[in-house]
Amino acid sequence: MSSYTVTVPDGEELGIRVACEEHGTAEEFRPERRTVAFFCERCGYEIEVDVRAADDWRDLGEMC
Ligand SMILES: [Zn+2]
Repeated sequence: MSSYTVTVPDGEELGIRVACEEHGTAEEFRPERRTVAFFCERCGYEIEVDVRAADDWRDLGEMC
């Protein structure tokens, strides 16, 4: 299973960046959306990220 990284740039109003580490694909999303769908063509898989829970999501990744 590929690993995904959710990055929140400095300033929480700037939106978030979701990246597939395995394939080096990334996409940035505007902050007005509560949930964003990131699709990696190479994975053929789409993930949904709750923007407001991005911090929690990142913590989960660090625990693995
Ligand atoms: Zn991928």
